[in-house]
Amino acid sequence: MGGFGSGRQSDLECTDDCRSIDIRNWAREGFLRTNLDFICTWSRNRKVTGKIRVMPESDKVRLSYSYRVRGDDWQFIDHSIALQTTACHYGGKRYWFTCPAVGCGKRVAVLYLGGKYFACRKCYQLAYKSQRETLEDRAIRKVDKLRERLEWEPGFLNGQGLRPKGMHWTTFHRLFAEHDKLVRQVLQSYMV
Ligand SMILES: [Zn+2]
Repeated sequence: MGGFGSGRQSDLECTDDCRSIDIRNWAREGFLRTNLDFICTWSRNRKVTGKIRVMPESDKVRLSYSYRVRGDDWQFIDHSIALQTTACHYGGKRYWFTCPAVGCGKRVAVLYLGGKYFACRKCYQLAYKSQRETLEDRAIRKVDKLRERLEWEPGFLNGQGLRPKGMHWTTFHRLFAEHDKLVRQVLQSYMV
């Protein structure tokens, strides 16, 4: 990384394990007034686990970082987050991020990097939930397909049946094991 802005001030370490950025820290350090870029790093056991470059501008911050899904190539992300300010009771102003997720736009102090982009906690919880739901749905659909082949009553809560007449024992054992594995997967996802 490099080549942004005209200079750079001291780096800021965010010790938070989950990748979040807190605009209150940036404001407190005076980083938002100067329009100089800085590096924000996350670490765990004193080892840097991630970093982003932050470039404050008058009404937004540009964030740049590398992102990849495991096994894929690194992607370079350059993402702007709009800022808002509110007046403080005792004078001065307070900075806020505007959640960049589609349809959100909430004014927040903390954004999370749960995937490719930063978003507020609520947006990430929603995304996480829907992801989990689709995983569960997929497993449940697979279970029902297997149950159909096994000629068992549909619905994984209905337990296991017998080997259908004419089905080879090897096929039966394979389907049985597959069914068992999927059901355990579904049940586990309910328990998380
Ligand atoms: Zn949001």
